Amino acid sequence: MDYIYSAHCEICKRETLEKINDNAVCSNCGYFTFPTQNEKGDIEISPKVAQKLIERGAMLLDVRDKDEYETTNINSSVLIPLKELIYKIQELSRDTQIITHCHHGVRSHKAARFLNQKGYNAKSMKGGIEAWSLTVDPKVARY
Ligand SMILES: [Zn+2]
Repeated sequence: MDYIYSAHCEICKRETLEKINDNAVCSNCGYFTFPTQNEKGDIEISPKVAQKLIERGAMLLDVRDKDEYETTNINSSVLIPLKELIYKIQELSRDTQIITHCHHGVRSHKAARFLNQKGYNAKSMKGGIEAWSLTVDPKVARY
């Protein structure tokens, strides 16, 4: 039997999750907490692979908060904090490969899943800006 429970959505932070057929979907932004059947398995890519995709035109989407972005960021990245993503999703193109990144790769993984659920083509950069600094560009400060 389906039932509804209340919890904070990992994407929009609203307290609106509902249980539907063994999954939990947010009635505000539509995020499915657990993988849906048509979700691809592994959406994580390494910073080095991300770098190659960026060179070929992929968009690097930083989903950290504004103060983190101001502390340090990767050149050419676009900032949309995770909790604002649902409200700014129209600014993104479904025709462009999107690579999400955050500090360590947790928020960006949720963001990439959410974008894929909405019909975008998104990957998450494993290890976040920390791993980027360690393996691609040491000029990017760690914090
Ligand atoms: Zn939500």
